[in-house]
Amino acid sequence: MRHRAYAAAAAVPDPEIPCITVADLGILRSVDIVDGVAVAKVTPTYSGCPAVLAIELAVETALREEGFEARVERVMSPPWTTDWITPEGREKLAAYGIAPPAAASNSIRALFGETQVDCPKCGAPETERVSEFGSTACKALYRCTACREPFDYFKCI
Ligand SMILES: [Zn+2]
Repeated sequence: MRHRAYAAAAAVPDPEIPCITVADLGILRSVDIVDGVAVAKVTPTYSGCPAVLAIELAVETALREEGFEARVERVMSPPWTTDWITPEGREKLAAYGIAPPAAASNSIRALFGETQVDCPKCGAPETERVSEFGSTACKALYRCTACREPFDYFKCI
């Protein structure tokens, strides 16, 4: 029963990037059955991101559609980082034309406030940031100087 509840919650797509699920993003922490109620624990990606409420509602709705009494709890600690995105999630982001975040923990450049962003379309490392904010506040707009294609970069936090 717990497994079925988890599968229903895990399949919920991110409202901003519909190709990726909450499980791919790593924000679905757990689903447990507590006194007959499916309790999903979700950690928001970016605090203040308006998608947080939409995601919580979508997870609750998915559980109810599976026939569960459902509750979503927001877990703030430990905070989500882009390192939680699964390898499969990173592939989906790249396939969708969004540069997956560089792993913050192993990037020397991050120490200097620089981010190496490879073009998701042609793979070239020559890219430039056009705007701090892309299609949503969670992403930055970049452009590849090799193939001239603009793309969204999922910001590393
Ligand atoms: Zn390119």
